[in-house]
Amino acid sequence: MGKLLAVGSMAFDAIETPFGKTDKILGGAAPYIGLAASQFDIDIAIASVIGEDFPESYLSLLKNRNIDTSAIEMVKGGKTFFWSGKYHNDLNSRDTIETQLNVLADFNPVIPEGYKDADVVMLGNLHPSTQLSVIAQMDKKPKLIVLDTMNFWMDNTWDELMQVIAKVDVITINDEEARQLTGEYSLVKAAQKINKMGPKFVVIKKGEHGALLFHEDNIFFAPALPLEEVFDPTGAGDTFAGGFSGYIAATEDISFENMKNAVIYGSNLASFCVEKFGTERMEKLTKREIQQRLLQFKELTQFEIELT
Ligand code: AMP
Repeated sequence: MGKLLAVGSMAFDAIETPFGKTDKILGGAAPYIGLAASQFDIDIAIASVIGEDFPESYLSLLKNRNIDTSAIEMVKGGKTFFWSGKYHNDLNSRDTIETQLNVLADFNPVIPEGYKDADVVMLGNLHPSTQLSVIAQMDKKPKLIVLDTMNFWMDNTWDELMQVIAKVDVITINDEEARQLTGEYSLVKAAQKINKMGPKFVVIKKGEHGALLFHEDNIFFAPALPLEEVFDPTGAGDTFAGGFSGYIAATEDISFENMKNAVIYGSNLASFCVEKFGTERMEKLTKREIQQRLLQFKELTQFEIELT
């Protein structure tokens, strides 16, 4: 059984989409990664930070999925990270209304002894220095280090971001961020440039248009499932990352062929995440539903053609 260490924010989110609005609900990259990755038969721990205002029931939700929460530090008297965002009508873009870093501002992850030899490390979207400190604490080189990041760190912490990118095996970013990172419009050229920065594998997420995996001269494309109901895209990227890294930890195989399946699992799990607000859908998701949707993914992409 593979071991996955995931690091990311734990948050209160307030979300507005064309379909409705939520008050403070459970959010942050870490719960989405954890809920997705815990669908696999793996050992998993989350390193994060919360304030004293964080409800025990949210932690229980993770513990009940057999996620080790001992490295989620609770700061006495502190307030949990808060993020609010509003989606545009097409649901592909959003505005951040407010970010209150609170306890996340001084987050210093301490990796538990039992996870310093994790097979896979999933570095959720955080300050690149925090991500670097996690890598530095590992006792042995993980089989795979996966990095998620966003434009905010490109704008504000370029040098540190370059340092962490140089140390990871896989990067997952969205198409606009790949263009910003490289100055290239073509995603093929962008992936080649990112390759040269360090990661051997580049995953470019294109929201409702699927995801691309690049490795050397190979390219693989996974579609997103055309869905009837999309309520809230929040956490789709983190859920993808959790599905991707969870699958690799479970299979312990980092070949390109196996990574294609990891991309399919990531897309599959993300397709559920967007069906309800926040983490609601992921909390109740069953293995049977995942299997059924995998069949839909197969049907969507399989075709027989005679070459004449
Ligand atoms: P995604 O929709 O996958 O990009 O992730 C959304 C999640 O990221 C939300 O639940 C937020 O709480 C969290 N988030 C937003 N901004 C930040 C930030 N600057 N650092 C860490 N987490 C963030």
